[in-house]
Amino acid sequence: MNPTQTSTLDVLRTLHRIHRQLVDLRERLARGPRLLQARQAHVQRMEDRLAQFHAEAKALRMVLDQKQLQLREGEERVQRYQRQLNEAKSNAEYQALQEQIKAVQMANSVLEDEILETMEKIDQFKLTVDQAQADLALAKVELEKTTQEVQNQQPTLQADIQRVEAELTQQEQLLSDDIREIYHRLLRQRGDEALAPVEGESCGGCHQQVPINMISQIKLNQVVFCKSCGRLLYLPE
Ligand SMILES: [Zn+2]
Repeated sequence: MNPTQTSTLDVLRTLHRIHRQLVDLRERLARGPRLLQARQAHVQRMEDRLAQFHAEAKALRMVLDQKQLQLREGEERVQRYQRQLNEAKSNAEYQALQEQIKAVQMANSVLEDEILETMEKIDQFKLTVDQAQADLALAKVELEKTTQEVQNQQPTLQADIQRVEAELTQQEQLLSDDIREIYHRLLRQRGDEALAPVEGESCGGCHQQVPINMISQIKLNQVVFCKSCGRLLYLPE
């Protein structure tokens, strides 16, 4: 067994592990800002929702004010008619005034019901507004927590990535020139999918069968590519 080639296959195995580690670290680094964005969007949604509820509550109060004003006017009208009743000069005038009083009192009674209904609605809506306010407060707490977490994690992840990238460069130096050229070409074309272990009798990348004679070639420390996906194959430990 040629010791140099044996170490080449070891290096390929290590390189693949490093690449997977880098993919994982970079994904974790990207996840922080994505999560922050989602939390910020959530806070914004909760703020918009609360503003909308406040506007609806204000509209309800305006309806209530208007109806209460109408009721006061109706009550004043009844009082006016009642004064006129005492000064009525004919039976017909008296009758007419009584009819008018009855009509206004009917309208006032409807208004009173509507006022009670509106007040009930306002009371119930207060619960909705309170809940929306609590939701917003919680969203802000979550945003703050995530901001702290991301701020704490990012430097560690960046340092890890730098360390692993240095390890990668170091391992790449261990490949022979011709294999390194092949490896870099594959890396440019496929990124972290340049390499794959043989798993059982299949390619770990595309899961197609790797012929027995190819596995033997790998065991003989030859550089072998998967016939289906073109990944550079190595044997796992
Ligand atoms: Zn394959």
